[in-house]
Amino acid sequence: MRKYNRVGSNHIAELKAIVGEKNVITDPDKLITYSQDEVTDARYHHMPEVVVFPETRDQVAEIIRLANRELIPVTPRGAGTGLAAGAAPMYGGIVLSLEKMNKIIEVNAEHMYMVVEPGVRTKDVQQAAAAVGLLYAGDPSSGDNCFIGGNIATNAGGNKAVKYGTTRNQVYAVEIVTPTGEITELGGLLNKSTSGYCLEQLIMGSEGTLGVITKATLKLIPLPPCKMDFLAIFPDTETAIDTVFKLLKAGIDPTSLEYMDNEAVNVCARYLKVGLPHQEDGNYLIITVETSTEEELEDKAARIDEICTAGGAIATLVPDSKTIWAARRAFGEANREESYIHSPEDIVVPVKHLAYAMREITRICKEHDAIGRVVAHAGDGNLHLTIMQGDIPAEEWPTKIDEILQDLFAFVYSIGGKMSGEHGIGSKRVKWMHRFTDPVQLKMMQAIKKALDPNLILNPGTVFEVD
Ligand SMILES: Cc1cc2nc3c(=O)[nH]c(=O)nc-3n(C[C@H](O)[C@H](O)[C@H](O)COP(=O)(O)OP(=O)(O)OC[C@H]3O[C@@H](n4cnc5c(N)ncnc54)[C@H](O)[C@@H]3O)c2cc1C
Repeated sequence: MRKYNRVGSNHIAELKAIVGEKNVITDPDKLITYSQDEVTDARYHHMPEVVVFPETRDQVAEIIRLANRELIPVTPRGAGTGLAAGAAPMYGGIVLSLEKMNKIIEVNAEHMYMVVEPGVRTKDVQQAAAAVGLLYAGDPSSGDNCFIGGNIATNAGGNKAVKYGTTRNQVYAVEIVTPTGEITELGGLLNKSTSGYCLEQLIMGSEGTLGVITKATLKLIPLPPCKMDFLAIFPDTETAIDTVFKLLKAGIDPTSLEYMDNEAVNVCARYLKVGLPHQEDGNYLIITVETSTEEELEDKAARIDEICTAGGAIATLVPDSKTIWAARRAFGEANREESYIHSPEDIVVPVKHLAYAMREITRICKEHDAIGRVVAHAGDGNLHLTIMQGDIPAEEWPTKIDEILQDLFAFVYSIGGKMSGEHGIGSKRVKWMHRFTDPVQLKMMQAIKKALDPNLILNPGTVFEVD
């Protein structure tokens, strides 16, 4: 384990000189907020020694240089909505909160791009694009709260990734402060480039371990004029999941293709205190399509109805969109209300194995007498399995969840899947990352980390450990 120096009063004074007195906190009552993200299990909470709120990239660079000189770890933090404990400072030290770098610098409607600081909320990015008739296509369910910098750092996905891809597909360029305190812009307003390594894509999804994102240039696209949601209700998991690939193959080009099993439907209905269609027996596929014309929309509606009916759907409806999407988005909070301690897993498998994966994860949970609830970005093969502590005694939970995760990840990797489709490894899955990643690939990642961050000061203990 790497040894770091503690933050001393001399460092605090220096940090205050960099960002101003009001932008440094050391009061333990206030630090506690920055010791965790949305992972509720206290094993993944770690207290920072100080939190700083830089307002400019130059301040970020100065903080990083100080941290290198003094061997103090720095953990970048967005809104703290992460589900992998990536923003929890594993080794203490400095939490570098980007919340005050929250300006939309430019919305260029003519050339369809937007330049933002990292602390802008995703919802505000989406609204600023919509205000000029354009779409920012990144859409994580946490969009009301999370920051764009966090989305880029985790390569966030969400409900529209099946059509538009994940956050890495929405970004032209990122300005970063490197782990040694230099400032550079990676990428550009370019639609293609084969001019050396694609460094901007290396940063996206690196979870704050290879650079602090201080600015981003985002792609905007024309807002599709027509849009409709459909709710196909199936009597069982099997028929619902079997229909996913048929919809993908049919040329419908869905914007969303989401799955909720019957238990998830009921959990979300209970949480929201609403009744949902066929709540007693329905397994849902939520399908959204966007088109240029009404005729095209009608055409796609007819195709969806045909495919879902042939696939065994009890009904295909045009639902109350607000209620259905509220239910889908409530899944995390609804589980948390029923079992504060739970393990939100985010496995991704080849879509062709989705049905098999559903069967196996149900079997694994049953075998361990655990409650596992499932929703999925089905079109992406990305399954959100929440394993509830429920009645499992607190002292048995760590061993129990380890046994379940061992079986779960062994299965997932055996069919060509990975442990996270969008939430990331954070510090929560480091042990599993070491256990299941191809050793050649792990070595390559560790070599990159060591080359860019020789003192290992940037978010150590996240994604993997390095000697
Ligand atoms: C209810 C709920 C729904 C969610 N739905 C989705 C979903 O649909 N899709 C999805 O992908 N995720 C989802 N998430 C997870 C989470 O919202 C995303 O991972 C999000 O991208 C995190 O953004 P954040 O600003 O909160 O980042 P944080 O949690 O603060 O940080 C996440 C990681 O990014 C790093 N980081 C943050 N900002 C920067 C920066 N400027 N520079 C460098 N590194 C940085 C941190 O060090 C950390 O490793 C959901 C979470 C919740 C609670």
